Amino acid sequence: MYEVKIVRHFAAAHRVEDYPGNCERLHGHNWRVEVVARRKELDGLGMVMDFRKLKELTQRALEPFDHNYLNETPPFDRLNPTAENIARHLYEVLSAAAPVTRVDVYETDTSEASYFEDEDA
Ligand SMILES: [Zn+2]
Repeated sequence: MYEVKIVRHFAAAHRVEDYPGNCERLHGHNWRVEVVARRKELDGLGMVMDFRKLKELTQRALEPFDHNYLNETPPFDRLNPTAENIARHLYEVLSAAAPVTRVDVYETDTSEASYFEDEDA
């Protein structure tokens, strides 16, 4: 199995609705997003996929969120904008266009949430 991973960043504000603590208040993060694509066989160039293409797809998926207030930006106007929900949303968008199997979303250097394919499914 081969994997590639790209890293992107975006800046956005959010509030975690109904959270019993200060994350309920408006605050922001410089979010780090890691996207993994995986394939059993390489393409004719010897790649899982072009890093540039994966970065472009990810950048496009992040574009609505960058320098924005997540709680007012679909789908997070109706879905709590936790790192977990952001990872799942990005996974769904990206896996429709590329062999993406995992998305990791960091709120900070020390706090990260992932969404990935269930290999048993
Ligand atoms: Zn936060």
